[in-house]
Amino acid sequence: MAEDPRAEPTKVKILLTSGEGMKIDWRDAHHSHYTFPYLREHCPCATCNDRRARHQSVTGARLQSDLPLYQERVRAVQAEPVGHYAVRFDFSDAHATGIYSFDYLRRICPCPECRTSRKGESQ
Ligand SMILES: [Zn+2]
Ligand SMILES: [Zn+2]
Repeated sequence: MAEDPRAEPTKVKILLTSGEGMKIDWRDAHHSHYTFPYLREHCPCATCNDRRARHQSVTGARLQSDLPLYQERVRAVQAEPVGHYAVRFDFSDAHATGIYSFDYLRRICPCPECRTSRKGESQ
């Protein structure tokens, strides 16, 4: 179990039908809302990590993606829990290898507050 309360979700809602994305309430009362394109773009699998690394070396830009590599239309068609610690998505572009741990999800929280606090860190 995660010892950091920030990585412990109390409520997870995945809005597949409406395509709104995923909403997480965290134990420390923080709330995150991830759109599916955002999740797709931050896919933690090895293939996507490589792709992002290449993209970064080409553009010289850090992936603090305000420029999405994926269009808005990418969405999840299915989601399934992986144990108690992660979620796996099937995306509409047939990509399904990314396993998103809650720890990782908390780290990529797209809210303005978290974005700001991440800016100071080198990642
Ligand atoms: Zn991936
Ligand atoms: Zn946040």
